[in-house]
Amino acid sequence: MSLIENLIRPDVLALSAYHVQDAAGCVKLDAMENPYQLPEPLRAELGRRLSEVALNRYPTPSYTELKAGICGKLGVPDGYDVVLGNGSDELISMVSVACAKPGAKVLAPVPTFVMYAMSAQFAGLQFVGVDLRPDFSLDRDAMLAAIAAHRPAVTYLAYPNNPTGNLFDDAAIVDILRAVGETGIVIVDEAYQPFAQSSFMPRLAEFPNLVVMRTVSKLGLAGIRLGYMSASGALLEQFEKVRPPYNINVLTQATAEFVLEHSEVLDTQAVALREERGRVAAELAALPGVEVFPSAANFLLLRITRPGLDSAKAHARLLEQKVLVKNVGKMHALLHNCLRVTVSTPEENTLFLNALKAALAP
Ligand code: PMP
Repeated sequence: MSLIENLIRPDVLALSAYHVQDAAGCVKLDAMENPYQLPEPLRAELGRRLSEVALNRYPTPSYTELKAGICGKLGVPDGYDVVLGNGSDELISMVSVACAKPGAKVLAPVPTFVMYAMSAQFAGLQFVGVDLRPDFSLDRDAMLAAIAAHRPAVTYLAYPNNPTGNLFDDAAIVDILRAVGETGIVIVDEAYQPFAQSSFMPRLAEFPNLVVMRTVSKLGLAGIRLGYMSASGALLEQFEKVRPPYNINVLTQATAEFVLEHSEVLDTQAVALREERGRVAAELAALPGVEVFPSAANFLLLRITRPGLDSAKAHARLLEQKVLVKNVGKMHALLHNCLRVTVSTPEENTLFLNALKAALAP
């Protein structure tokens, strides 16, 4: 046996590393990034601010100011605090680690964000996926049956969901929160909240088992890696114990504090992206050979329906035209022949639409 086989867990050996397509020279519409940078005067001011950051020091471990900025500007209810993560990916790992009792399970509707299942596996938790309905709505009865059968420690609901883009029904979410009750937590993952304008954050006090998770990534700050989650103090106290100390570096801390002082800039960008989402969706709906699904996020899910063309071929034809989208057609049976495309600037969206029209041509 080789060193690697002696050393590494069989389930990790069997994995292939997460493949990220090289986007050099492409219109990059594969990762739900906000296409807009900060306006130039703010960038210059941020540069000055960052030049004063003490890189020789560890961050202040309490992150008091950053947390106050997040709670004050991003709608965390009075009396509630947040736990910070290096992206919400790290928060998901922290929850898995904290809840990984022997036999504990993680449940989510599928298809959904893949890290819920990956992170469960890494921490030794069993993942249970419950299929969405063909229109991507929650199958409430199947979810309730799975909750009764598996008593999951952690249930994830991405709101809106990735990669389908839709918001699940609020009443079904409330039924799930009640059904899980005291045996587990329900994490409502609001990564795309700025584009949905719908949130469970104001409802934290109603549900002691509710955790609301968010990220600044889609808001325009994917590069700084910062996520946050709010819940009852009793839950946050436990999650805080497994947070790696100093997980938010000083440059992220200073940048986030600065941008939160100017949060209206991000709000304006989100408004522009929501408008463009409407335009792109309408143009896609008018294209023969394509079906587009309703989205409350900064991306659109579409299905290639033109005979003789599938999502892999359409993806390749878009790439030949230097437009990179995500082919999710093989991720789950419900996503057969589907592509996911980020909503971007009017110029980039038009480039995508024209490239897609060319890709659909016989
Ligand atoms: N949650 C959902 C639903 C996502 O789609 C993503 C990113 N694609 C994340 C969380 C992770 O975001 P980040 O780690 O950038 O905060």
